Amino acid sequence: MKYDFHIHSCLSPCGSDDMTPANIAGMSFLAGLDAIAVCDHNSSLNIEAAAKACSQYGIRYLCGMELCTSEDIHILCYFKDIQVALDFSAHIEENTLKFPNEPSHYGNQNIMDDTDNILGTVDHLLISGCNYSVYEIVDIVHCMGGVCYYAHIDKPSYSVISVLGAIPEDIAVDGVEIFNMANRERLIAEGYITEDTPYMSNSDAHQLEFIGAKEAQMEENHPLLAYLMD
Ligand SMILES: [Zn+2]
Ligand SMILES: [Zn+2]
Repeated sequence: MKYDFHIHSCLSPCGSDDMTPANIAGMSFLAGLDAIAVCDHNSSLNIEAAAKACSQYGIRYLCGMELCTSEDIHILCYFKDIQVALDFSAHIEENTLKFPNEPSHYGNQNIMDDTDNILGTVDHLLISGCNYSVYEIVDIVHCMGGVCYYAHIDKPSYSVISVLGAIPEDIAVDGVEIFNMANRERLIAEGYITEDTPYMSNSDAHQLEFIGAKEAQMEENHPLLAYLMD
């Protein structure tokens, strides 16, 4: 299963305007991916269009979001059901201090359909932290039937290790994303994760050319694959 479960669309201010759901699906097909997830910062408003566009190419879809906690830790949240993911997105929007986006500085935040039409924009900046701590977020996501993976734990910013200096043992996060898989052995040796910690590696693409760049593959029994849309 070739996958890329962390792709930003044009809804993320830092994502290229070319990252429309239709373009992401087309580029994922060209990259030979079997399954993808669009994970925008603090919003899932483009996942419906992305799932629809992917279905045109026979690409499996995972509903997700890259959430920023109140501690500035990025967490990838995934749900099996599109409506639950949208409900979670609405809940996060209600529980975030809203600063206006300045598109000329941060970039556009476009809501799209699956055929490259702009349906609207999100006016508050999506890259600021929500009101929930990592402890609270994991409980909320689990209560809604979803799963949480710490994003890019080997990156020097917005990762659980860079913020807290460790991976807290009392938070039941379901797995980790390792940006550079060459770091996995070191993370195990230093005790951040174990051999048994579910892991994945994604592009975190903000531009079309990086989609599928990790050429990562998952075994069919990876626990995350149970959350793919039917
Ligand atoms: Zn991130
Ligand atoms: Zn990201």
